[in-house]
Amino acid sequence: MAQLICGGCRTLLMYTRGAASIRCSCCHTINVAPGQAEKSTSFSSSMMRIFQRGLLRQIDKEAPRLTESGFHFLLMDTNAQLWYIIREYISNSEAYLMR
Ligand SMILES: [Zn+2]
Repeated sequence: MAQLICGGCRTLLMYTRGAASIRCSCCHTINVAPGQAEKSTSFSSSMMRIFQRGLLRQIDKEAPRLTESGFHFLLMDTNAQLWYIIREYISNSEAYLMR
């Protein structure tokens, strides 16, 4: 058995190792199991840096969590998402070249 803190209500949940997701019995939030999350979020580090500029919030070694603007990003259409990433990438690389 493994343990996980629910993203919705912060209750400690127990789950069988290998499970892909765990539904919280208190608030019914579906939590992605940490092992699975690592696999599905295997972005390159530069890509991750773009998402961490506002879309995702990562505290220490916890799994990254979506911010409000990250959620808006998910609701954009694919073209808008691509432009967002390209714009962020360009401004990111400009900042990198300035150093
Ligand atoms: Zn919960």
